[in-house]
Amino acid sequence: MKYVSKVTVLITISIMFACTGNNKEQEMKEDDFNYVLEQFADLRILRYQVPGFEDLSPDQKKLLYYLGQAALCGRDILWDQNGRYNLAVRQTLENIYETYSGDRETDEFKNFVTYLKRVWFSNGIYHHYSSDKITPEISEEYFRKLVEKSNANNLPQIEGMSKEESLEKIIKVIFDERYLPKKVSQDASKDLVANSAVNFYDEGITEKEVTSYYNSIRDIHDNTPVSYGLNTRITKNENGEIVEIPWKSGSIYGEAIDRIISWLNKAHEVAETEQQKEGIEKLIEYYKTGDLETWDEYNIIWVNDTSRVDFVNGFIEIYSDPLGMKASWESVVNFKDIEATKRTEIIAQNAQWFEDNSPVDNRFKKEEVKGVSAKVITVTMLGGDCYPHTPIGINLPNAGWIRKDHGSKSVTIENITYSYHQANLSSGFLEEFSFDSAQIELEKKYGYLTNNLHTDLHECLGHGSGKVLEGVTDDALKNYYSPLEETRADLFALYYIMDPKMIELGLLPNEEAPKAQYISYIRNGLMTQLKRIEPGNDIQQAHMRNRQLISKWCYEKGKKDDIIEKVNRDGKTYFVINDYNKLRELLGDLLAEVQRIKSEGDYEAGKVLVETYGVKVDPELHKEVLKRFEKLNLAAYSGFVNPDYELIEKNGEIIDIKVKYVDDYAKQMLNYSKNYSYLPVMN
Ligand code: ZN
Repeated sequence: MKYVSKVTVLITISIMFACTGNNKEQEMKEDDFNYVLEQFADLRILRYQVPGFEDLSPDQKKLLYYLGQAALCGRDILWDQNGRYNLAVRQTLENIYETYSGDRETDEFKNFVTYLKRVWFSNGIYHHYSSDKITPEISEEYFRKLVEKSNANNLPQIEGMSKEESLEKIIKVIFDERYLPKKVSQDASKDLVANSAVNFYDEGITEKEVTSYYNSIRDIHDNTPVSYGLNTRITKNENGEIVEIPWKSGSIYGEAIDRIISWLNKAHEVAETEQQKEGIEKLIEYYKTGDLETWDEYNIIWVNDTSRVDFVNGFIEIYSDPLGMKASWESVVNFKDIEATKRTEIIAQNAQWFEDNSPVDNRFKKEEVKGVSAKVITVTMLGGDCYPHTPIGINLPNAGWIRKDHGSKSVTIENITYSYHQANLSSGFLEEFSFDSAQIELEKKYGYLTNNLHTDLHECLGHGSGKVLEGVTDDALKNYYSPLEETRADLFALYYIMDPKMIELGLLPNEEAPKAQYISYIRNGLMTQLKRIEPGNDIQQAHMRNRQLISKWCYEKGKKDDIIEKVNRDGKTYFVINDYNKLRELLGDLLAEVQRIKSEGDYEAGKVLVETYGVKVDPELHKEVLKRFEKLNLAAYSGFVNPDYELIEKNGEIIDIKVKYVDDYAKQMLNYSKNYSYLPVMN
């Protein structure tokens, strides 16, 4: 599971607080590194630094390098998964970009380049967040002219089609908005499979066929089930029966997977521990066989592996499958930030204290909290579904029974959150939406620290806290499960961030610090997050629902005591917190209630909470927020380029590796397309 969303572009400036148990404070200032490379459409391209890399051992550097290469080799797998014509479209667009002989200074050509940059960003023709087909701001006619004046030899040929037919197909895919319009359909009133363009199911397959196929093979009495359908495409055989074709060596994506395997073999030679070696062997075995039991065995080894260098590489997250089974390919290569991890270790060590002292009913508390392994990491390479749009944290593995029996790893990616904060230092957001200079000061001083701490508390403790009464099943809350679960985890974090225990444990320097978190959370939940909503729409996304639910509930319940005050000044709305302790009490009350709802599986109460506080938008305030943001010209989404790594060799041996920060987004994309493409245009 990924938490992409907590640090959005809306959070600004702050202070870097080295939280190591002693109250050391160090001001976070804008540094010299250029974090923002460019901005276009609704996107912004950033870079991240890799502090501490030079201090690693030569073998650790090699290990990171080999795993980084493996991360790049899977790129085209994701492109093909995101849409069956994506690789052909990319080849066509890149060919124009590189060989077009006409005028490149016109607005039309610039619009073409923007379209290509958006397609790169989304790893295909569908918007990475909304999953709608991206509309190019050029005409089909102009596109044909571009193709005519570009090198015809480089145009892709789709299997079973001539070059001319291939081009017509590609033009249809790009310009016909009714043809394969959406990557993932969420509209449950229609066939989810038939209406999703994601390349997990062959054309013509229906939702009913897929669900009845899986119902027929699934063993519902199995306590340790494999992740059915995780790594396969669904097609039909000659007899019209549903069959699965695995993504593995010698099958679909085999050419790319073999490259991944060869880098994993190199990584194996310099692995840090026997356990890590064993894990890499299992992963290779899984890539060769496609066997899902091997995948589970690999995950059990991985979750217990505490090596400093660590990585994710595989078919992991299922958000792009309308049926929630098939996983997109991704990779994250990283090493542990030992200093920053002390913070999460302190939290994990005190997990039982937090459970015992929470405001929820004793019947819903865990007698024994199992420690969550949580760490802060520094990424060195992002690949597949994590590139260029990047999560700020990951909690894996996803299989429920492995999490229960063997635990999970929760990570916060701090060189990414740090980049976000640096990039936002000069955005003007804070000045626009803060009520006064005191709010700005608090945010500048403690915003970065308390945001990271919120994420730690949410992940390490929040999701793992509480227990469900016997007989209550996971699906009792149905479609309200996700927003309520996120509400619960956020409330746990918000309640405890204001607790004196934070200062006692050395996690916060003083009582002022957590106020920064309350101010930015409430402001975001009641107001600034509306930036992501189209006028007239409701809030759909689970995290956004949860943030408004909490903020609005507290605002309404605290009205009579004026706990949160809505102020209008010169036609602009602000929210001011008048009593932080009373707000904390309200958060505790809501936490107790949401835990009760989960523990008892009280669907009706959950529904009322979400629908009353989390879904509807105040249209007037919404309009105002959009207007204020328009002036600021902030991009809604950010992504990152990776650094390159330069090998320093002597007599054919690698003696050192250096980080090279790149500054050209298009160049990196073209480099990856040129050097890491192993798949045919159709798979
Ligand atoms: Zn969460």
